[in-house]
Amino acid sequence: MRSVTLVTGAARGIGAATARLLAGPGQDLALNYRSDHAAAEALAEALRARGSRVLLLPADVADPQQVARMFERVDAEFGRLTGLVNNAGIVAPSTGVQGIDRPRLERLFAVNVFGTLYCIQQAARRMGTASGGAGGAIVNVSSRAAQLGSPGVYVDYAATKGAVDSLTVGLGRELIAQGIRVYGVRPGIIETDIHADSGTEAALPEAARAIPIGRLGRADEVAQAIVWLLSPAASYLVGTTLDVAGGR
Ligand code: NAP
Repeated sequence: MRSVTLVTGAARGIGAATARLLAGPGQDLALNYRSDHAAAEALAEALRARGSRVLLLPADVADPQQVARMFERVDAEFGRLTGLVNNAGIVAPSTGVQGIDRPRLERLFAVNVFGTLYCIQQAARRMGTASGGAGGAIVNVSSRAAQLGSPGVYVDYAATKGAVDSLTVGLGRELIAQGIRVYGVRPGIIETDIHADSGTEAALPEAARAIPIGRLGRADEVAQAIVWLLSPAASYLVGTTLDVAGGR
């Protein structure tokens, strides 16, 4: 059966790994990203070679109008949406509590929480049986930081992911009546470029030693969980968030 999946923040890291795992004949992929056109184009070419139709959607998920236009383009190009992966997310430079200011807080919450909610609203209008849809699945990418709190690093980022977990629980229970399955994944420390944005790269080798499995995770290991949650194999889970964290 043809599926239409929108992945936000798909140009690199966990989003790109998810798109790679989903790709194949009959798998239409709508890939959102913010600014890295070159990475998005290169990924799209690789996915098309594997049989997917690919639509590139540069947009800031923190802007509800850009989000609405993005979903309208998916309607027009691919038709009925079947899956959404809310993966776009940002961190901020590592700091203690006194280094947190209003612009930083506003941006973190705008992208990680508001952006996730805007995308869920748009997806639910299309997937929900209440509005004539045929159901679907949504996976929100949270973080183990939601539960560990990231003391002295970025408690504000951790709080955004705590909010994402609440959205997953609440909307999982609200939207299942409309045939929409809502899930989350909580990655541990995964080898992607995001750590350069927080300035925590140098601390990664030591962090890896403290993880029970003894190493950092790979983006494709998180993608495996996301793709399974999107699939009918996860049909009896409602509002569940899986830890993909090597025991962390
Ligand atoms: P990444 O390598 O930094 O990639 C982030 C992606 O999100 C990029 O494609 C980026 O686009 C896009 N993006 C950022 N802000 C955006 C916005 N406002 N609108 C649309 N797209 C936006 O990150 P990652 O490590 O793969 O992380 C993906 C998700 O996993 C995030 O939600 C993150 O919080 C979560 N996570 C990551 C880890 C980890 O250790 N890596 C751990 C726990 C949770 P551009 O490149 O065009 O800017």
